[in-house]
Amino acid sequence: AKQADGNALRFFDPQMLAEVEQRFDLEQAMSKALTEDQFMLFYQPQITDSGQVIGVEALIRWQHPERGMISPAYFIPLAEESEQIEAIGGWVLQQACQQLQNWQTKSLFSALSVSVNISVRQFYQPDFIDLLAGLLQQYQVNPALLTLELTESLVLTDLDDAVHRMQQLKALGLRFAMDDFGTGYSSLSYLSRLPFDEVKIDQHFVRQSSDGKKTRDWAIVDAIIGIANTFDMALVAEGVETEAQRELLYNSGCFCFQGYLFARPQPVAEFEAWLSSRDLN
Ligand code: C2E
Ligand code: CA
Ligand code: CA
Ligand code: CA
Repeated sequence: AKQADGNALRFFDPQMLAEVEQRFDLEQAMSKALTEDQFMLFYQPQITDSGQVIGVEALIRWQHPERGMISPAYFIPLAEESEQIEAIGGWVLQQACQQLQNWQTKSLFSALSVSVNISVRQFYQPDFIDLLAGLLQQYQVNPALLTLELTESLVLTDLDDAVHRMQQLKALGLRFAMDDFGTGYSSLSYLSRLPFDEVKIDQHFVRQSSDGKKTRDWAIVDAIIGIANTFDMALVAEGVETEAQRELLYNSGCFCFQGYLFARPQPVAEFEAWLSSRDLN
């Protein structure tokens, strides 16, 4: 009734309430999406300079019955704020392992590696190592064909803990790729402390050189390539859309590419058809 109402109003800001409700709905919707099979994995190939497809990155898609395809760039960050990411991330790993098992018996696909994006929260979940050990066992997966993509934000919490966890997972035979490197806040020197097998050159750097010319930022790419070579890590450049970009990367010493120039992420049947028809040519 009195002056206090002005302050009280802020607590019941309808806009804020709407946001809270929307987030709650989204969390509900994500858990429903799991039980009702609305998530799918798309696969995008990684190709060497000689044209050989050596692996795929698995990318999640949400086929919502009313809202259509929802981008992971939208729902993964929200899932990461809740425990949902553990359930979704677990589903992704299970699907990837099942796919690896399925490809084991198909000659054209049996040597393909599958890269899976792992969120920080998922990486630090207490039963993560047991979960992976269980999946490798259940689907009889060659662990060397499963690559876990981690972002540098995982070291911001505790570098020693990250190293320890990675070593435990490496003991299972799994590979690690550093995703989006050079875009965050960690220093290049972290790479020397973390047991990565592969570094991915972020599309942010690749995009800036659409005409194939070296931008100022390219010095960072050169540094990343130099470090990867020093530590004997494989390199994959992502977001390669033009021949000029591919050439610039090649001339800089990166010989493995992922991007629309070769193929978009596709459902497994389309990817299999794409690789099969490519093999005939
Ligand atoms: P990311 O890991 O950096 O994945 C690469 C993104 O670049 C993908 O976006 C891919 O579709 C897109 N891309 C590939 N080639 C090109 C290209 O030539 N040009 C352009 N402009 N884009 C290209 P997407 O699929 O929308 O995924 C966005 C992000 O969502 C991923 O970025 C990753 O951080 C996250 N994400 C996707 N799937 C998963 C998942 O299963 N788990 C987790 N935790 N995160 C995921
Ligand atoms: Ca919650
Ligand atoms: Ca990735
Ligand atoms: Ca990336």
